[in-house]
Amino acid sequence: MESEQTRRQRLYRVSAIVLKRRDMGEADRLLTVLTRDRGKLTLLAKGVRKLASRKAGHVEPFTHVDLLAAKGKSLDLVTQAETLAAHRALREDLWRSAWGYYVVELADAFTQDADPNELLFDLLLETLERLDGGAEPALTVRYYEVHLLALAGYQPQLFRCIQCQELLKPQVNFLSIERGGILCPQHAAHQADATALSLPVQKVLRYLQTREWEQVAPLRLGAEVSNQVETLLGHYIVYHLERSLRSPVFLDRLRQSLSAGAATTTEQATVDDEPGVAAGSSDR
Ligand SMILES: [Zn+2]
Repeated sequence: MESEQTRRQRLYRVSAIVLKRRDMGEADRLLTVLTRDRGKLTLLAKGVRKLASRKAGHVEPFTHVDLLAAKGKSLDLVTQAETLAAHRALREDLWRSAWGYYVVELADAFTQDADPNELLFDLLLETLERLDGGAEPALTVRYYEVHLLALAGYQPQLFRCIQCQELLKPQVNFLSIERGGILCPQHAAHQADATALSLPVQKVLRYLQTREWEQVAPLRLGAEVSNQVETLLGHYIVYHLERSLRSPVFLDRLRQSLSAGAATTTEQATVDDEPGVAAGSSDR
């Protein structure tokens, strides 16, 4: 039998955000969490699906939790869980939680196991807090996307032409997703994937990239600019991730059913109210 001292050496404590969870066996769950100090980890939470489990409520998606984990042979085990922030409003509101699933799916996609990035952890936590606190979801998520890209090493160049490095003029310029930035009209002519960007769209992208959230939060974007920015960033992200994402599909379906009328939303909610779970089981 191991001594108390060996047992203690096997334990470590982390501040973590639950990205996704997957059922294991009858009562256990596999958790993917992003931690501030150790990066992304996969942990086994034993017995959490039992009604009497004291850990259960603490390891829900979007939860900021203080975890005590024990090193295991293959997987580390969650031994204690204490909620720091439940983000309940975010979890209980279907519309907000759809955005939340997208936010955690992106964090999962842009991080590697055990490769800590404190700024990225902080950005994720702040974003979940903003969604939970009632900030405008689309704007919150656009800000998150732009800053996540920067922290993950994919920041688009928006101020100078990526070919000639001249400062871009206030005119229609062209985005090359492949090359990771904007081209002046002269150099866009030779770039197959160059997409025209209106001046307002360029301004919004630059504003998101260079301002603090407090300056961005009061912005109210027109529907057209907002949709264009969303589409561009979505394409940019999928291109650089080299894979597609699941939660935007869910978000789009939900958006359509919400605009079609309230009657369909309840039905929609029960169909798949947790796209993160499906994501976990089908791709590994
Ligand atoms: Zn140029």
